[in-house]
Amino acid sequence: MVNVLVTGGAGYIGSHACKALKEAGYTPVTYDNFVTGWRDAVKFGPMEEGDLHDRARLDEVFAKYQPAAVMHFAALSQVGEAMKEPGKYWHNNVAGSLNLIEAAVAAGCLDFVFSSTCATYGEHDNVVLDEDTPQEPLNAYGASKRAIEDVLRDFEAAYGLRSVIFRYFNVAGADPEGEVGEFHRPETHLIPLMLDAIDGKRAALTVFGTDYDTPDGTCIRDYVHVCDLVDAHVLGLKWLKDGKPSRIFNLGTGTGYSVREVIDRSREVTNRDVPYEVGPRRAGDCTKLVSGSVRAGDELGWSPDKSELATMIRDAWRWHQNGHYDK
Ligand code: UDP
Repeated sequence: MVNVLVTGGAGYIGSHACKALKEAGYTPVTYDNFVTGWRDAVKFGPMEEGDLHDRARLDEVFAKYQPAAVMHFAALSQVGEAMKEPGKYWHNNVAGSLNLIEAAVAAGCLDFVFSSTCATYGEHDNVVLDEDTPQEPLNAYGASKRAIEDVLRDFEAAYGLRSVIFRYFNVAGADPEGEVGEFHRPETHLIPLMLDAIDGKRAALTVFGTDYDTPDGTCIRDYVHVCDLVDAHVLGLKWLKDGKPSRIFNLGTGTGYSVREVIDRSREVTNRDVPYEVGPRRAGDCTKLVSGSVRAGDELGWSPDKSELATMIRDAWRWHQNGHYDK
């Protein structure tokens, strides 16, 4: 079996990626420091505890498994936190990733799949966000991811490290078989917070701003099912293994939904009331982030067929009611 080193394999997206990799015939080796990840989520391959800053530990794991590629998910990813504590993002995401990239090159592991974000684009009024849109991030989260993209570019020129970079839009949903799902502590994302409000785990959802320049005044996002998202990663790995050149792909459906539309759809899917209140804008939020690219479909053959909003909410709701991690 071919090993793939999955950093952040105990997290939301990483754990779904491990399942997809296993189903595609790879052995996913999770490397995680368990600061935000869950041991219970590591179900599809070996688990190695370690931090991105620990170069000796990284070298040990590369030597032990001789991975054919790295999928790098491990990161801090909260816009609100990034606005308040930018240093954490530069230390953890940028310095940590640089350490990982150097370890990969030293080990001769030269295929790298990286989870980047549409937050690298920043605010662009009436512009279709494709991979050539200038990157002008509004927060340290987006800036940290853009910096890692730059590191990958420079390391390709110097050492031949090839990469597939995925710029995610908003990831949602859960494994329909219920083996893994979204479980953040604390939770900051719209759909799980809304589901918490629906079943009484929190009093109400706060809608962050209703005075944006959008039809209903709330922010618009492009939601992608986590299972579709990780399928793209398996296709990206194949792309590299087929010897194709480094490439950047947006992962979004091209359809945007406002916060109010997500609330309405959740009410329909769960058949329950959604308690919410209106609050101020959250610093660092862009008005609208919707992908305008068909590159992943055209070149990778990616089809996000689970990414209908109702399907994502239904899968998230099933997980929310039945699934959780304890450790
Ligand atoms: N949002 C909200 N209330 C919340 C959490 C999020 O209104 O409690 C909004 C947020 O302003 C954004 C959208 O929901 O417009 C998605 O936010 P999330 O944090 O899920 O993802 P992000 O877009 O920041 O990656």
